[in-house]
Amino acid sequence: MDECEKAKYIDNLWDSSDDNMLRLFFGRKLYFLKQFDIEMMKIAHPDVYEIETVEYGKKYLESLPLHEIGKIRPDLEKMLRDSTFEKYTDSEGNYHCACCGFTDKTRAPFHVDHIIAMNNGGKSVLENLQILCHRCNGEKGDK
Ligand SMILES: [Zn+2]
Repeated sequence: MDECEKAKYIDNLWDSSDDNMLRLFFGRKLYFLKQFDIEMMKIAHPDVYEIETVEYGKKYLESLPLHEIGKIRPDLEKMLRDSTFEKYTDSEGNYHCACCGFTDKTRAPFHVDHIIAMNNGGKSVLENLQILCHRCNGEKGDK
């Protein structure tokens, strides 16, 4: 396939995928295109695919805010949120704010927060996530 044929093929594939699995799964054309390049590379260089693209995909996701991860990998967003809440659960099943220690039985009063803000290079990884009550989260946002 030359570049022109490839572009046509991609557009057709995208346009014909109104609400089928492709669009549901990829959501955004940019991600779809990246994924398509990966597929092409897999065919051309099967040996380097495993190590390099798995790493790349992981790094790409880690650099996104949680709600963006959720658009691409809802399962991963859920896992990160669940695991973060788990880190701040005591033996009685109560959640507590990482900042002031406010405790509640439900998740509703808490936000999942990046310890190092994404603006400062923080990543969406479990080690960099904590839960804050709405008040602490608001105060952090004001700084
Ligand atoms: Zn708090």
